[in-house]
Amino acid sequence: MQDSALHHLSVIKSRMANACQASGRPPGTVRLLLATKTVPAARIRNVLSAGELLIGENKVQEIRDKFVELQSVPHETHFIGHLQTNKIRDVLKYNVSCIQSVDRPDLAGKLHQRLVFENKKMDVFIQVNTSFEDSKFGVSPDKAIALARDISRFDTLQIKGLMTIGVFSTVENKVRNCYKLLKSIQADIRSENIPGVDVSELSMGMSNDLEIAIEEGATIVRIGTAIFGERIYPDRYYWNESLPVR
Ligand SMILES: *Cc1c(COP(=O)(O)O)cnc(C)c1O
Repeated sequence: MQDSALHHLSVIKSRMANACQASGRPPGTVRLLLATKTVPAARIRNVLSAGELLIGENKVQEIRDKFVELQSVPHETHFIGHLQTNKIRDVLKYNVSCIQSVDRPDLAGKLHQRLVFENKKMDVFIQVNTSFEDSKFGVSPDKAIALARDISRFDTLQIKGLMTIGVFSTVENKVRNCYKLLKSIQADIRSENIPGVDVSELSMGMSNDLEIAIEEGATIVRIGTAIFGERIYPDRYYWNESLPVR
């Protein structure tokens, strides 16, 4: 039987295309990242084989578990979860091309140390907490410029953009404000003209709100549920392990 994810993928693609058109953006200016936490490698392969290229994982252990099975299908992996410093060595083992969730100076510093040791470089996004919720990781908006400066001093780390998880709300304006805030932080960082810092990418928007994110300037939307279906683990488990799992 055909994986329902393939049908859902085409729905997402047309939602993305419609949103681009509605906001006067050329189609193809927004990339789809498949948020694949909890999804078995076989299902990810189905979607990659349909022409998708970009996946995002939240846990190093899941990247490791799926690594071999995904090796033969062309794709790129971004890390989008909370990265503990004791997992840095591991995350560098699996061809992750970008860490979208750099949110604190000590993480950047330790990543740099390890990358120097391995003689590697890494693309990074700065994750910003635009919803001001304790349950979300990310640097607070007022510290984003300082973090960009800190990271820019590390020649192993190439800043490519900003990432945020919007607030979960049925009130459209609350969601929109998160994405507007990320866009304004992008402008603030640009106006600082920090050498080597390029924040062109805005990774924002998920299954429920990708249209809003695209209207507000997303260049990458991260979609899980709307393609692969509901997950059994609550997102809390992935987003902030220090909080009790509900
Ligand atoms: C799970 C996850 C997503 C995708 O969320 P859905 O609502 O399932 O589309 C996007 N970004 C991050 C960081 C995630 O952990």
